Amino acid sequence: MSAPQTAALSPAPGKTNFIRLIIEQDLASGKHGRIHTRFPPEPNGYLHIGHAKSIVLNFGLAEDYQGQCNLRFDDTNPHKENIEFVQAIEADVRWLGYRWGGRTYFASDYFQQLHDYAVDLIRQGLAYVCDLSAEETRAYRGTLTEPGRDSPYRNRTVEENLDLFARMRAGEFPDGARTLRARIDMASPNINLRDPVLYRIKHGVTHHQTGSEWCLYPMYDYTHPISDALEGITHSLCTLEFEDHRPLYDWVIDHLDLPCKPRQIEFSRLNLEYTVMSKRLLTQLVSEGHVEGWDDPRLPTLAGLRRRGYTPAAIRVFCDRIGITKAENRVEMSLLENTVREDLDASQERRLAVLHPLKVVIEDYPADQRETIELANHPKDEDRGARALDFGREVWIDRADFAADPPKGYKRLVPGGEVRLRGAYVIRCERVIKDAEGDVIELRCSHDPATLGRNPEGRKVKGVIHWVPAASAVRAEVRLYDRLFAVPTPGAGGGNFLDDLNPDSLRTLTGCLVELALRGARPGDGFQFEREGYFVVDPESRPEHLIFNRTVGLRDTWASQSP
Ligand code: ATP
Ligand code: MG
Repeated sequence: MSAPQTAALSPAPGKTNFIRLIIEQDLASGKHGRIHTRFPPEPNGYLHIGHAKSIVLNFGLAEDYQGQCNLRFDDTNPHKENIEFVQAIEADVRWLGYRWGGRTYFASDYFQQLHDYAVDLIRQGLAYVCDLSAEETRAYRGTLTEPGRDSPYRNRTVEENLDLFARMRAGEFPDGARTLRARIDMASPNINLRDPVLYRIKHGVTHHQTGSEWCLYPMYDYTHPISDALEGITHSLCTLEFEDHRPLYDWVIDHLDLPCKPRQIEFSRLNLEYTVMSKRLLTQLVSEGHVEGWDDPRLPTLAGLRRRGYTPAAIRVFCDRIGITKAENRVEMSLLENTVREDLDASQERRLAVLHPLKVVIEDYPADQRETIELANHPKDEDRGARALDFGREVWIDRADFAADPPKGYKRLVPGGEVRLRGAYVIRCERVIKDAEGDVIELRCSHDPATLGRNPEGRKVKGVIHWVPAASAVRAEVRLYDRLFAVPTPGAGGGNFLDDLNPDSLRTLTGCLVELALRGARPGDGFQFEREGYFVVDPESRPEHLIFNRTVGLRDTWASQSP
């Protein structure tokens, strides 16, 4: 295959990064005629936004250079893996907008080949069966400052190693009794090269793909380069913690007769403030019930972000914006939120919803009168049409839009003051009705008939508030989410990360009232509730019990704009 014309395939300027430069050089020099990447999750949890960075990188490169990207499950550790995670991962990658044309692979697809390659290493004198226990192996390994010591089993003959490895495979030895190790260099300054374990024995586990066929399981560092090579991967992209493992990756590739020589390239992980991204910690949050499941909208999991109302487009753009480098970093949550807001501002229709309802009776408006108020679905896009609200004598406004004792600069409703009801009339607060405890329970207002949907000459009312008609308001539950953790780096300073959980990360409002047009909203539908933020219908929502999740708040920008 001849090298494709790189110029025509180059991505948009500004999107480039050091990995793209390497790929372009490889294409230009003819080292590779095509590019092939893979995304290799371990199915031991749900994907999170950090994985999205890797997905967007790997699938994005394949798209931009007309190559291919495989989805490969790195399933060599059956204890913590299961088929639920496999399915959830596939659904999440698809949701992000990527397809892999049936190229779903499992490292376990290669168990037989991996075994045969191990036999090959033994034959070359490059691997041996070691009887040291895990603890002894650690002690023999040495430290960063001290070299390791050779295992007493290091010089077994090829025949003895072949025999013992076959008997390990046949299940003759219990867990931990023996391992297969690469025979590299116990004095290497790189600890990963000090005769790393290639295989361990695990009895009594049922692997989600291979059942109980194997009692030998290969280690990640051995499995990964071979899986890459067998799939024809050209560029094997992973996060920085594997940098020190690259010499081992290359050692495996160099000492076996493999169909291709992939190159490992590392980039820095995405870390986000006010959340955690380690699967171990996410698993703990879910299994101990600190959140309601892997798709809890407070989690950085893709399932959680989806339920929260984040869009695949916003996540992809965010991943492009943070870029790919080798620098360790922690990205501010606001960068993610701003990207989501930008996307939703353009895409979501506007609706009126009152989260903390306060009844307003417009006393000079006839009880039997109804007027239709048309409100545009999108302020920047007339083509998206309008919907009608049925204006009448009684409406609901938000408690926060009335102040009996207003702070300075308050532009909304006050006793004796005026405010505009969005798209309808200017009303004046005539009387405040309180209950026995002195809490405001109702406002009695008047309206100015000359102000319907416009300001007459010389009349300017500063405040504009949202409302819903009492006659047709629909009850709804609204869930307001905040950061899951109260500090930017949970668990920093050696504390328990659970101590940093934000106790107010979820506030559930049950008595909200929304406009009639929302009655038929279906799970996944998203809207901007004017002045409140972006909301999405929760999967548990039913027509008789609507539930909206707040995706992200809104800066209150239109209160001083035209009606
Ligand atoms: P663990 O938290 O258990 O170490 P992991 O997050 O590395 O697991 P994997 O399933 O091994 O999870 O990850 C699959 C791929 O996603 C790997 O190539 C990994 O480098 C990449 N990845 C994982 N987390 C991030 C992150 N925060 N930023 C960028 N890439 C990531
Ligand atoms: Mg990993």
